[in-house]
Amino acid sequence: MVNLVLTFIGPPGAGKGHFSYWIVKKFGFKRLASGDITRKYADEPTEIGLKISKLMERGELLPDELISQLFFLELEKIHSNVVLDGFPRTKIQGVFLHTFLRKKMSKNKFIVIILKTKKEDSAYRVQGRLFCAICSATYHPKLSPPRESFFCDNDNTKLSRRADDEHFAERWATYERKTLPLIKFMKARVNPKNLFEIGSDLSKEEIKKILEKIVEKN
Ligand code: AMP
Repeated sequence: MVNLVLTFIGPPGAGKGHFSYWIVKKFGFKRLASGDITRKYADEPTEIGLKISKLMERGELLPDELISQLFFLELEKIHSNVVLDGFPRTKIQGVFLHTFLRKKMSKNKFIVIILKTKKEDSAYRVQGRLFCAICSATYHPKLSPPRESFFCDNDNTKLSRRADDEHFAERWATYERKTLPLIKFMKARVNPKNLFEIGSDLSKEEIKKILEKIVEKN
């Protein structure tokens, strides 16, 4: 059976989490978020946990080898349609992912979705973002409010701010430095039929319609 491996690439606040969650709910995909993996390790009182939490607090990326190893350990366990949220984020991670998919998941179809957004829109979303530490769903008081103020719709956990959301400027700079070269690489490497660029001028509903077509066609 051919499964879809779909990845979202975009700056912080582009909606990677929002749309990957929507795909999970609508189409029953599994979701693997690199940020969830790093947060899990960062919470552990170990040397590696401390190293990871320091990098995350500063809004910096983890070393490519480390995050790729941690991510592939989890990806290997999934044998169904899967949406990747936050991985790859650099060109080297893109190269590692291609190699991994070729070796371990060669029957699967790989789809790349590039989410484009303007810096000021991203800043507005990230700076108001509320986060559920249990299921990692995100909300925004104005743009996507939870049903009950400050509580997660999924599990009723009290929502909080993510420490790294205070470092928007650094994270945007990291996106420009590390992720733009990845996008260039993906455009050169991935079959154009399997790569989609979605513009920042579209509404959430318009984007969901495009995603629906992509998933149904594949
Ligand atoms: P996210 O929830 O995707 O915004 O990720 C939170 C933090 O985890 C990032 O700011 C990075 O410090 C780290 N992280 C997540 N994904 C990656 C990745 N693909 N490469 C390196 N670091 C990552």
